[in-house]
This record gives sequence, structure tokens and C-alpha cells, in this order.
Amino acid sequence: MSKTYARETICIQSGWKPKKGEPRILPVYQSTTFKYETSAQMGELFDLQASGYFYSRLQNPTNDCVAAKICELEGGVAAMLTSSGQAANYYAIFNICEAGDHVVASSTIYGGTFNLLLVTMKKMGIDCTVVDPDASLEELRKAMQSNTKCVFGETIANPALVVLDIEKFAALAHEHGVPLIVDNTFATPINCRPFEWGADIVTHSTTKYMDGHAMTVGGAIVDSGNFDWEKYRDKFPGLCTPDASYHGVTYTQSFGKGAYITKATVQLMRDLGSIQAPQNAFLLNIGLETLALRMERHCQNGQKVAEFLAGHSKVAWVKYPGLTSDKYYELGQKYLPDGSCGVISFGLKGGREAAERMMNELQLASIVTHVADARTCVLHPASTTHRQMTEEQLKEAGVAPEMIRLSVGIEHADDIIADLDQAMTKAE
Ligand code: PLP
Repeated sequence: MSKTYARETICIQSGWKPKKGEPRILPVYQSTTFKYETSAQMGELFDLQASGYFYSRLQNPTNDCVAAKICELEGGVAAMLTSSGQAANYYAIFNICEAGDHVVASSTIYGGTFNLLLVTMKKMGIDCTVVDPDASLEELRKAMQSNTKCVFGETIANPALVVLDIEKFAALAHEHGVPLIVDNTFATPINCRPFEWGADIVTHSTTKYMDGHAMTVGGAIVDSGNFDWEKYRDKFPGLCTPDASYHGVTYTQSFGKGAYITKATVQLMRDLGSIQAPQNAFLLNIGLETLALRMERHCQNGQKVAEFLAGHSKVAWVKYPGLTSDKYYELGQKYLPDGSCGVISFGLKGGREAAERMMNELQLASIVTHVADARTCVLHPASTTHRQMTEEQLKEAGVAPEMIRLSVGIEHADDIIADLDQAMTKAE
């Protein structure tokens, strides 16, 4: 499909393109395996000499159609689906890092990614330095090491709602000869395409707005094709030198701009296995069809609710990039001119206890470990998603103990506001 189509059109039309007599709707290829005529044909697939499906742990046609749609939405050259957003971030980093390497990440990244980098990947020998996303480029440079292999951040941080200065982080990464990986989950490609600002790899928890209906856990990785791996081949031997597990294939030489996603698919998926179920990919595709419509409503509602909270006598503070008083308003105007997302974080004057009392009184909004959904929902990050963090880490992550993360859905804004209002009154 031509890149000239608008995002709304890509949401509906891209991915599955049926030929004569084929189903109009993306079929679910509910099959672990694919048939060939001879063992030799199959052997060529195993040697990466021919392309084709053979086992759904590596690739599945339903998944590939949905990945192609996400790829086009982001303006990338290649993409893959993963079983979760966690798997997407893990693979995106592990595809170019090994024991002895180092990652620089924004301190405000989602708690799960923070644990992945600071606890689990550390055990694998990959170190991480977290940096203040608002620090100057000069300050940020101090975190870079000779073994740093990538820089990582979130377009809009969950739940601190910090808007990443993508150009600054891209400059930091590129002057060091490494890629910038951006988790674009909250903004979605409808509101921001990080590649247009210098990011090299984009990841998603498709569990959030992309699915949008709280039906499927999933993730995606998209490659811009812009990073020149060969120019820095000493830093990226996994991509630029022969892979013994494929009889000496060198990904950059054999797959060009497809090298990064091909390696993640044929090597990481093969060995670690985190494929998205084709049935989930099918459901994700239905969610993607209305992504542009939903994001518009999420942003309209988010703005109205943020303004209501900002003017409420019981509210101590509100974070939402669409508020002119917000610290990230200017960056939001630059990177997210059409709106940020439906997620707002706020604190009540009564502190953590008032927050818990108020949340218990909500009737429309539900308390769930979820965010970025069609239904309005709330969560108290300090006692849930960010529970493992120390006081100091919580502060660095921008998570105050009293913070309520409110994910504004696509119901009527008046009903959401009325629910919040009654809950705050009852919680007095
Ligand atoms: N990235 C961000 C920004 C998230 O908010 C989340 C989950 O909340 C993840 C990654 C992890 O995604 P998943 O829950 O699909 O594994």
C-alpha cells in the first residue's frame, strides 16, 4: 500500500490484501505448521535461503499481516508481533545487546520495563544506567559508555506522563553510534511517529490502545531501517558477523534493511519463543481498524477531564501534556500536536489515603491493572505496577505515593466527570 495514505485509511485498509476469491476479512491461520512437497524445500527455509512459513513459533501469516499494518502506521520498513509488550522491549534490546553491554534508559519508563532492564537483564550481564529525561544533552552524555549499545525511552511515560524529547535522545544515541529505541505505546502512531524525529526502533505494548478493548496481551517491534549497523559493525557483531546457528548467515549482508527484524524473528523467536497467538493478532487487527477514531475521542475526553480535575478544589495536582500549565505542554505541542493520549495522572490534597478512598467510590471507572482502554479505568501505581521500586526509584520514575493513574475511556466525557466528582465528594 502506498505510503501516501492517511493513518485513518491505513488502519482500515492495510495488512491483509485479499486476492480474487479470498476472504475479505483477515483469516486466522490457526496452524502450528505449514506443508511442503520435499524435505529439500523445508531445508532451504531452515538455512534462510528461501522465505516461507514453516512453524508458527517463528512466523505466522495472520501475525505478519497485522505487523505489516503497524509497520505502515509507524512508517517503518519491517515489523514483528510478540506475545506481550514486555517481550517486545526485551527482544528489541536483546537483539543488539549481550553480556558485557550497557543500555541508557530514561528513568521514567514503565515499571515493568524498569524491572526488565534493572533486574532481569542485569542478571544476564547487561547493565543499565537510568537518566533524567529532562537533563541537558551535555548531562546525558555522561551516562554513555564505550559498551553502550542503545538508548531507550517512552514517547509518553507510563504513568509519569513525561513527554520524551525524542530529538535530544536521538542526538545522544547517534553521536555515540547506537540506535534510539522508543516505546510508543501511549502516543500510538496516530499521535506521534517517533521515526520522524530520529528514533530508529519503535516498540509497542499492543495490549493498550492498539487493541483498545482489553482483549489481548501483545506487543510489536518496528524497525525504521535508518540505522546503519554496518557503519558501527564492531558494536553490533550479532547483526554484522556470521551467525553460526544459520550456517554463517550475516544478517546485514543477506537482509539489508530487514536485518534487525529478521534476526529477532529467526534467532530470538526461534530460541526464546514469544510469538503472539494468531487468534490474538486477529483481535488486535479489529482494534487497529478503529485506532484513529478512538485516539481522537480519548484525547478529547482526556483534555476535558484534565481541565475538570485541574479546576477541582480537592485536587492537589494534575499531569496531562494537553494542559497549558503542564511541564510538558511545549514538548507535547511539538511531538504530539494532535493530542497525547487519554491517560492523566493526578493527586488529591488528602494524599494517598484520600486517593484510595476516592477510587473505592468510583462507579463507572473500574480499578484494574490496565490502561489505555475504551473503558475508563484507574490504578494506584505506587501500590501496584511500581510496587517493587524503592522510594528513591519511585521519585526518579515520577511516581508520587498519592498518584492516581486515570485512563480516560471513550464514554461520554460528562459521565466520566460526574463519576469522578461524586467519588471525590463521597471520599471526603
Ligand atoms: N510499555 C508500556 C509503556 C506499558 O505501559 C506496558 C504495560 O503497561 C508495557 C510496555 C508492557 O506491555 P505488556 O503488558 O503488553 O507486556
